[in-house]
Amino acid sequence: MEKNNNYQVLLYYQYVQIDDPEGYAAEHLKFCKELGLKGRILVAQEGINGTVSGTIEQTEAYMEAMHQDPRFADMVFKIDEAADHAFKKMHVRPRKELVTFRLENDINPLETTGNHLSPKEFYEAMQDENTIVIDARNDYEYDLGHFRGAVRPDIKTFRELPEWIREHKDQFKDKKVLTYCTGGIRCEKFSGWLLEEGFEDVNQLHGGIVTYGKDPEVQGELWDGKCYVFDERISVPVNQKEHVVVGVDYFDGEPCERYINCANPECNKQILCSEENEHKYLRGCTHECRVSPRNLYVKEHELSQEEVEERLQKLGETLKQEI
Ligand SMILES: [Zn+2]
Repeated sequence: MEKNNNYQVLLYYQYVQIDDPEGYAAEHLKFCKELGLKGRILVAQEGINGTVSGTIEQTEAYMEAMHQDPRFADMVFKIDEAADHAFKKMHVRPRKELVTFRLENDINPLETTGNHLSPKEFYEAMQDENTIVIDARNDYEYDLGHFRGAVRPDIKTFRELPEWIREHKDQFKDKKVLTYCTGGIRCEKFSGWLLEEGFEDVNQLHGGIVTYGKDPEVQGELWDGKCYVFDERISVPVNQKEHVVVGVDYFDGEPCERYINCANPECNKQILCSEENEHKYLRGCTHECRVSPRNLYVKEHELSQEEVEERLQKLGETLKQEI
């Protein structure tokens, strides 16, 4: 690669009491803009969670300033090199919770949370036959990459996880439970909740997948696929030793690691899809999405009605059926 990596992407969180989330968010947004950062930061009474991008100088200045605040003095920043910004804008938003887990009593990870395992400890524990590894992320994140053998909860959002666990509890009882997520923030709550649910041996990957991938010893081993991230990069590599593709194309089931959004703005579903199939299926996840009058693919490519009809015909579909 010829590109110069003059930018960095930071990922970080801290569970700590913030008294006036709204006031802090406004002040922090101003500060981030002055620095020239872009990204998305959430502020709640329970803490801060952010991912921002900027030049090396801007991001270094940000980390230094944050570490000077006693509340964030030991905050760990996961740092990725990048060739450019990973966001278009800068947002700092006050929220009720950093991660929305469940509506009843929330978990305070400062009081209740699972054991933190280093990448090396996690790597070793994962290979014990009495261990069960539960992915604490959403299904579309799992589908692009996950730890080999990890359980995939069939959930669309994090808040559905408790119900799913209760339904499948028999599978996990009496096992050593390992959980993991992108940067670690979701597991802090999830592992605490598992303890409250009566699971005894609950452990979480300290620093999450992104830390595991950079660890000089484990080097991302036993991770298959890529790690989904919530910025313009969409995914980052993890396993430095081998790359096993686990993602499959939504349309033909072929190996695929390319996420796109359905061209029907009312659907916007995220699907793994090759470039070839994007054209073939007009980037629509269903017939209804392909023929939607608002289909963005058709607009971007300025396809005429005849051209749309022609592509649909190859799929055994037709526009007219819909009228
Ligand atoms: Zn769709």
